[in-house]
Amino acid sequence: MTQPRIHFSPPESPAPEPGALPLANAVRWISPHEEKGLHPVVTIFLTQTAYARVVEHAASELDNEVGGVLVGKWCLDAETSQQFIVAVAALPARFTEQGSVYLTFTQDSLVDIHAKIDLLYPGEAIVGWYHTHPRMGVFLSNYDTWLHENFFPEPWQVALVIEPHTEIAGFFIRKEDGVLDPSRYFGFYELDGTCGHSVVGWKNMHEEIQAVENNGGDIHE
Ligand SMILES: [Zn+2]
Repeated sequence: MTQPRIHFSPPESPAPEPGALPLANAVRWISPHEEKGLHPVVTIFLTQTAYARVVEHAASELDNEVGGVLVGKWCLDAETSQQFIVAVAALPARFTEQGSVYLTFTQDSLVDIHAKIDLLYPGEAIVGWYHTHPRMGVFLSNYDTWLHENFFPEPWQVALVIEPHTEIAGFFIRKEDGVLDPSRYFGFYELDGTCGHSVVGWKNMHEEIQAVENNGGDIHE
């Protein structure tokens, strides 16, 4: 075994892209841990396409862990100074160690992932990773935390864990001080708006009730 030497995040990603929070076409999903004063460093927007791909991959293997990366953009809303990521795609990774209770990113799968991003999503970054915990619940193990720190070291990179049997999931995001809580997870914004209704089925998340807006949604001063 050699030490992993490839990092997911390319070194040439020094600054977030400027952009406004895409709230107009988003539904906010809240995790049970969020009302307890947690302040994540980034807000997550997950497109319905990426969500569907993750769920499909998670359901394809109910005995072993599977996973991959989330592809998209790291952005900064200048008006609110809020950092956010927009995950537009999920790329399943192939793992040679698959078959037990953990998975690992191999060099082959990293090369494969980078080639796919260059081909299909040029200009996009790896904003995080996802993996399943069949019959284990939603948390980061010590190994998961190690993997996150070593392969996804940027403060804005996130980890999504899915339990495919009970259909629960959560995002692990660093806090503003850089600390990652391995047991308390966050929700996200479901992003799309093309079909006008939610596709999220994770049972531990609840939808934020928002003030009713008319079409066009004027914002009050
Ligand atoms: Zn894990």
